[in-house]
Amino acid sequence: MTKFVYLFEEGNQEMKSLLGGKGANLAEMSRLGLPVPAGFTITTKACHDFFTHQRQLSNDLCTEIDLHIDKLETKMQKKFNDSKNPLLVSVRSGAVHSMPGMMDTILNLGLNDHTVDVLATITGNPRFAYDCYRRLIQMFGEVVMEIPGKQFEAYLDKLKQTKQIKQDTDLTADDWRLVVKEYQKIYHAATKSEFPQDPKEQLYLAIQAVFNSWFNPRADIYRKLHQIPSDLGTAVTIQSMVFGNAGNTSGTGVAFTRNPATGEASVFGEFLLNAQGEDVVAGIRTPLPLNELATQLPDIYAEFIQLAHILEHHYRDMQDIEFTIEQEKLYLLQTRSGKRTAAATIQIAVDMVQEGLITKQEAILRVEPSTITKLLHPVFDSTALSQTQPIAKGLPASPGAATGKIYFDTEAARSAKERGEKIILMRQETSPEDIEGMVISEAIVTSRGGMTSHAAVVARGMGTCCVAGCGQFLIQEQAKRITYATDKQLFEGDLISVDGATGAIYLGELKMESSAENPALKTFMNWLTAFSQLGVRANADTLKDIQTALDFGAEGIGLTRTEHMFFAEERLLKMRQMILANSTTQRKLALSSLLDMQMQDFTELFTLTAGKPMTIRLLDPPLHEFLPHTAAEIAIVAKEMQLSENDIRNRLADLTETNPMLGHRGCRLAVSYPEIYQMQVEAIMKSALISEQKGITMTPEIMIPLIGSATELHFVKKNLTDLIQQLLLEANSHMTYKIGTMIEIPRACLTADEIANEADFFSFGTNDLTQLTFGFSRDDSGKFLGTYLEKGLLTADPFQTLDIAGVGSLIEFAVNKARQQKSTLKIGVCGEVGGDPLSIAFFQKLGLDYVSCSPYRVPIARLAAAQASIQQQS
Ligand code: PEP
Ligand code: MG
Repeated sequence: MTKFVYLFEEGNQEMKSLLGGKGANLAEMSRLGLPVPAGFTITTKACHDFFTHQRQLSNDLCTEIDLHIDKLETKMQKKFNDSKNPLLVSVRSGAVHSMPGMMDTILNLGLNDHTVDVLATITGNPRFAYDCYRRLIQMFGEVVMEIPGKQFEAYLDKLKQTKQIKQDTDLTADDWRLVVKEYQKIYHAATKSEFPQDPKEQLYLAIQAVFNSWFNPRADIYRKLHQIPSDLGTAVTIQSMVFGNAGNTSGTGVAFTRNPATGEASVFGEFLLNAQGEDVVAGIRTPLPLNELATQLPDIYAEFIQLAHILEHHYRDMQDIEFTIEQEKLYLLQTRSGKRTAAATIQIAVDMVQEGLITKQEAILRVEPSTITKLLHPVFDSTALSQTQPIAKGLPASPGAATGKIYFDTEAARSAKERGEKIILMRQETSPEDIEGMVISEAIVTSRGGMTSHAAVVARGMGTCCVAGCGQFLIQEQAKRITYATDKQLFEGDLISVDGATGAIYLGELKMESSAENPALKTFMNWLTAFSQLGVRANADTLKDIQTALDFGAEGIGLTRTEHMFFAEERLLKMRQMILANSTTQRKLALSSLLDMQMQDFTELFTLTAGKPMTIRLLDPPLHEFLPHTAAEIAIVAKEMQLSENDIRNRLADLTETNPMLGHRGCRLAVSYPEIYQMQVEAIMKSALISEQKGITMTPEIMIPLIGSATELHFVKKNLTDLIQQLLLEANSHMTYKIGTMIEIPRACLTADEIANEADFFSFGTNDLTQLTFGFSRDDSGKFLGTYLEKGLLTADPFQTLDIAGVGSLIEFAVNKARQQKSTLKIGVCGEVGGDPLSIAFFQKLGLDYVSCSPYRVPIARLAAAQASIQQQS
């Protein structure tokens, strides 16, 4: 018979897939002898069993649960429904991947009309006992019976208003007794049944509800967002209760072993005295910073710091720890690797290497490449900041900067998003129901709750800017209005700017700038090259882009698209003259002007790259991108070329193609008009020779696009090599140069051995290769790819992440054939997928030399390349 239930002492941290993250870590902490309340975990296999048995707990499973309750009763010397010492438990979900707040939890299970009085007597604290009981009725009502939580909260708010008190802690035992009675009425009205008095019945229903919560809508959204498979299921942990709400020497809190926002190496957390866990997370009362505990309960504080240290060293990672203090005794309820901001991820990885806790390789493998993207997010321009004053300030819960229009609920935010607006979600506090609204927002602002509130934790996980606990804002969600500074107001649709790094909120839009210096990131990035086999170059055509790429650590330029150099007005005109020329003489005339411009371009580029590898691709314009279309444009070209507008129109008609992407572009243009590539090569070589004279040693890499056969490459190349030899001879130079080709046509892959004979290097153009392999238009596939992804016909957009099975096979075939012919052939990739981590891992396996991607993706590609090498070696 399958074992479905494990006592904590039977498990360990390796058993995450069976016990879930929470269960496995509780087991591990028990094994280490740390103060964990006793309990057991029902496995994810039991969850599968539940779903395959029409959402029923099987008899076998119930028998096993009963057996483990018996064991727990013996261990705790407490019993369900006992008149002297009643057993109370918590029932919590715990999936393999942490999904904070997405599934359900029930505390204080085991209380009923009888045991609540027993608890009141044995603790001498009826206030506490009734507070626990009303919490159970509400949680059970919400989770198991789906009664809206608002029904319970509205009553409590009304009571507090009548009694003119603000804090729950000010309510007396009699008040709570009354609340329990009212809650039972609410429960009855909603379910037409009494709140169950049998703890076993409570337990079974709670376990079923937690299993069911695996498929609740917010958990579904979270899984999709974090690519967590939906068939993993959740484990359920049953744990003997300890009470943080048993008076002022009790409390509960959440702490991180390092600061999750900045990564600073000191314990960071929040707590509340006389409270249960959900009070901290839900943001209903604003918690105190953990170091306050040093004043209030110094021994407990010291013990906690020591335990935090033990846990961090044991797991060798920053931990997120939930704890409860029951009458001056500390218990650990959970530990897991803490979610952290991108900045903290890097800071912690670097610090832990420097502390000797982990190796550089481990640090590199721990950083998700997308983390780097988040660090490159803009911040507000410092001058703009210095000239304006915030209208309010809250806690800097998740960094980033955002400007947008304010909305108070998911529905309104969704409609605004559909209208193309940028949204700032404003809530008193968020709850998991707000997840969709949070996902589509640029920033989230709450008026209540601390750094570990739901809003803060979820926003950090998503990398979304968040300011929490902004008490200067009176947010009225129903009225869709914010009041601040006594009499000022903001309404739905008003524009504000939010600084997640400082917690400041500004009126209107603020200018952005690139993110600030990050010394830890610099150190981290410096480690990468030593572990990488794949080089990383950039696709860049302008001085600014090239500079950005070099600043990000690109080892050179893998693709300069020379057609991009001709979009400026004056150049475009020359380009049009060249394309529309009726004769070679006319074309050469236009080309001679372009030659001067190109020489100026290349000389500047070579000076900037200073001898680093630089691949310049000769013209590859789908012609339609350069032709004049409007009457005004046609008139200008006609005048310049001293032709009639009709002549131009006729020529345009000649040049019009039904399918320009498959038309007269790339090397085909050079077959028809060799003088175009000759002009470009002359400009490249003359500029290189000028650079050589300035002391820059370089090997120009000239790349020919859209080659489909060796004969085509031979033909195009021949014209160029003759010219280069002549130029070198004239300059009396021995400069080396390379002529290579893009491999972006399936036929080129299939005949890669023949083409390798003619080429000094290959660079896979996966944009065209994907287009031609799938037969999906690069320009139009956006119209249907979304549907393909939705319907599961594709797992990713093949223009963003390489289609390994199809396009990848062609590349693999080509690499093998080419290297058999020429083992030293340098091979790179310069399509979009060159910056994609999954694709990079595949290119590493094929043994390519480099990938090339847009400048802002260079850091991500460098990290992915290092990870791919380390993983391959291990
Ligand atoms: C490619 O096709 O992958 C490529 C890099 O070239 P372009 O995008 O300029 O066609
Ligand atoms: Mg291409």
